[in-house]
Amino acid sequence: MPLWALRALGRQLLRGFAAVAAHTAALNAMGMNKQGCPICGFADVVALDEFNCTTFEICECCGYESGLEYDQDSTSEHLEKIRREWVVENICRWWGDKKSIPENWNPKKQMELASIDIPQ
Ligand SMILES: [Zn+2]
Repeated sequence: MPLWALRALGRQLLRGFAAVAAHTAALNAMGMNKQGCPICGFADVVALDEFNCTTFEICECCGYESGLEYDQDSTSEHLEKIRREWVVENICRWWGDKKSIPENWNPKKQMELASIDIPQ
């Protein structure tokens, strides 16, 4: 493949990555992904189903329930409000069975990995 063709391909790929990144950022700005808890960022939770409806799954980490405390229409302000409750009032306490706490679990790191702003 000639160099010019490689360069063109590279530019196309970069545009593709940028589009995906922008889409992900837009979804995150809406405050909710289907996978992962929108409150604490615990990954092993399905918050919304394939129809974008709440699953009534309770997060083992923070204890908040999809469809009860928040739903697909919750604003990011609402999510922030309950997140603050968990972080500040409940001091990031693990809600579920203590035996299921992941090894080396770090709630702040978990939120960071999920691109969730940690309430101060
Ligand atoms: Zn959670």
